Amino acid sequence: MAVVKSLTRDAPEPLPFIDLAAQKERIKDRIEAAMSEVLASGQYVLGPHVEILESALAEFCNAAHCVSCANGTDALGLVLMAEGIGPGDAVFVPSFTFVATAESVALRGATPFFVDIDADTFNMNAPSLTRAIRAARKAGLRPRMVIAVDLFGQPADYDKLAPIAEEQGVLLVADAAQSFGATLGGKRVGTLAAYTTTSFFPAKPLGCYGDGGAVFVEDSDKAEILRSLRGHGTGSHRYEHARVGFNSRLDSLQAAILLVKLDIFPDEIEARQDVARRYGELLRGVTTPHVRSDATSVWAQYTVELPPGTDRDAVQAYCTHAGVPTAVYYPIPLHRQRAYSQYPCDPEGLPQTEAASLRVLSLPMHPYLSAAKQDYVAETLAAALERP
Ligand SMILES: *Cc1c(COP(=O)(O)O)cnc(C)c1O
Repeated sequence: MAVVKSLTRDAPEPLPFIDLAAQKERIKDRIEAAMSEVLASGQYVLGPHVEILESALAEFCNAAHCVSCANGTDALGLVLMAEGIGPGDAVFVPSFTFVATAESVALRGATPFFVDIDADTFNMNAPSLTRAIRAARKAGLRPRMVIAVDLFGQPADYDKLAPIAEEQGVLLVADAAQSFGATLGGKRVGTLAAYTTTSFFPAKPLGCYGDGGAVFVEDSDKAEILRSLRGHGTGSHRYEHARVGFNSRLDSLQAAILLVKLDIFPDEIEARQDVARRYGELLRGVTTPHVRSDATSVWAQYTVELPPGTDRDAVQAYCTHAGVPTAVYYPIPLHRQRAYSQYPCDPEGLPQTEAASLRVLSLPMHPYLSAAKQDYVAETLAAALERP
């Protein structure tokens, strides 16, 4: 291929976007031992592994309580249920996020109200939130909750969002599906909002080998309600039902797997930060990610912005051809999606969301990405951008 030949070296094969195989090689024996233990225990859903995991996760992020559940979407649903969010309630969410953030709100019959982002971090913009809350009130909706998303692994600006939430009487929730392990002002994600939800989907920074999720909360009564809701609304014993709940339990195999992965997680976070630093030094001609000076990211994605007017499809095609996988998170913001376009937005529109969705490009990112492969990614991207 002419395209590939123009680069100075061959693609160091293979170059996966996220390399779960390299991680599995590292922990294979421990994972197999942990899984055998669960098989021998005969307890496959909840049980001791799940309890140990919940304590370990809470300890990891200094949260008072961790309530595990089936996935990150259910984690959001549990919080909305626990707070009795429903029809007539407005829940403020970014439009530049994975669909689950708004979907969980719409599923409760409440109104997801879309808020713009900051151009440099892609996280929720505080003035836009204020405008949206005022507009919701004017429209006759009850502003109840704001769900900030820690996009691509960096915590949202909780220090700016919390005073607005407090002043307006809305509850601040963190959708930390992409940021578990990150910090803001020296505090770990898990204690930066009234509730924090996360996901253990395999591709997330801390992922299992299936689906999993969790909610972190300080208040023990709220934790009890979440536990009840995830198990069919049980009351003081198994067949007494205090409320309408659903089934969102974490299975023991995933808990055992997560305990092994949590063990190497701090080391993996450091490796991710090294990879991000190296990208920052290598990449030319694109805007590299901005992390606040008092924050750390866990780099769920390494997302650059292409110069305005770049043909992103052509850049991606060139990279694919050269063996460099790329992805666009997210090409269509939620307020532009058929299923969500009827929901309200900041009355001043979402200009930064629109701009970001046209220009972002995510590059291979995982803790096991070698310097040689990063060199190749940077060189390939530069060559793709230089083409007429
Ligand atoms: C992945 C993700 C979710 C949903 O998590 P699942 O475990 O896949 O249900 C929610 N919000 C954001 C921002 C996500 O990235």
